[in-house]
Amino acid sequence: MKVDAIRPDRLMAGQREAMARDIAMLSSWRDGFVEVACPACDGQGRIDLYAKYGLQHHRCADCGTQYISPRPTDEMLGRFYALSENYAYWAAHIYPASAETRRVQVFRPRLELVRRVLADRGRKGGTLVEVGAGYGILLEEAAATGLFDRCIGLEPSPRLAEICRDRGIEVIERPYETTELDQPADIIVAFEVIEHLFRPADFTAWLFRSVRPGGLILLTCPNISGFDTLLLGHHSTAVDHQHLNYFTPTSIARLLERFGFIDVTVTTPGRLDVDLVRRAWREGLVDEATLGPFVAHVLATGDDALDQHLQQFLQQASLSSHMMAVARRPDAAGAETAP
Ligand SMILES: [Zn+2]
Repeated sequence: MKVDAIRPDRLMAGQREAMARDIAMLSSWRDGFVEVACPACDGQGRIDLYAKYGLQHHRCADCGTQYISPRPTDEMLGRFYALSENYAYWAAHIYPASAETRRVQVFRPRLELVRRVLADRGRKGGTLVEVGAGYGILLEEAAATGLFDRCIGLEPSPRLAEICRDRGIEVIERPYETTELDQPADIIVAFEVIEHLFRPADFTAWLFRSVRPGGLILLTCPNISGFDTLLLGHHSTAVDHQHLNYFTPTSIARLLERFGFIDVTVTTPGRLDVDLVRRAWREGLVDEATLGPFVAHVLATGDDALDQHLQQFLQQASLSSHMMAVARRPDAAGAETAP
C-alpha cells in the first residue's frame, strides 16, 4: 500500500498549513502543561530524547515507552481537538477525497483484523464497541456482515457523531471517561486512540470495566521500535504533536497486564513502513548513512515485489511501526478455564 492513496499529495499542502497553526495553538498553552510519569509502567526514570514541535520527548528507563512530558492536560486536549484546524481540514478535504479508498484500504482491512481475532479465539460477534468511531465506516461495514448482534460507536465530536447517526449507527456522543455502557461489550476496539490520550492507564482501566468477563479488546497504535520509527526517529510522521504516548510491543503488553488483562498478543500488521522510509529518504530527511547501505540498496531498487517482501517480513517479525494488541479480560472469578 502507498501513502498517497489515503493521504493524497495534492491536498497535503493545505493540511500542513492547518497543522502548523494547530501546533502554534498548542505551544501557546505550554505554561499550563503538566509533567507525567511513564504512561505504561508509571516509572519515573527516563532518558531525555529530543523536542519536536516544541514538545519534549523522553524514553522510560524501565519499559522503553517514549512519551511527551510536560504535556497538555485533558481539558486542553478537549479544547485542542474542538478547535483543531487540521481536523477541520481533514473533514472538509482529505476524507471526502479519499473516503472510498479508505473504506477499501483502511476500514475493510481493520474489520478483517477484528474477524480474524474473533475466529482465532473461537468467538462469535456479540456486542462490538468502537471507541473513536470517526466517520463510522468500520461500524457500517461491521454491521453489514451480520456477525454482530449490536454495534456501538463512542464518538465525542458532535459533527462526527452526526455522520455516524446518518449512517444508521448507534452512537454514544461522549468521551470514554463519562461513558458507562448499558451492558458490557463482547469486544471493544480502538484504532489509533491510545497514543492521543492524556492518561492511557485510565483508558485501560475503563476498557477492563466495560468489557464482559472473558471479553476481548483490540487496540492499534504506533510501535516506536519498528522499521519506520527506528530508522526515521524524530522525522517519522508517527512522531507528531497529537501523539503523546509511543509504546513498544512489550510496553503496551505491560500496560494491559497491569490492569488485569490476560492472553495479551501484540502483532504489527503495518503496511506503510517501506513507503514511508523511502519518501523520507527522497525528501532528504534521512541520508544513506542513517539508513545503512543494505536498506538504502533495497529501497533504491524501487521494485514493488521486493517492497512487498520486505513489508511482509516486517509484519511477520513484529518490526512494523504500526501495531495491534489483543487481550482478554479473565472469566468471572472461579470460572477461569485453561485456553
Ligand atoms: Zn515505563
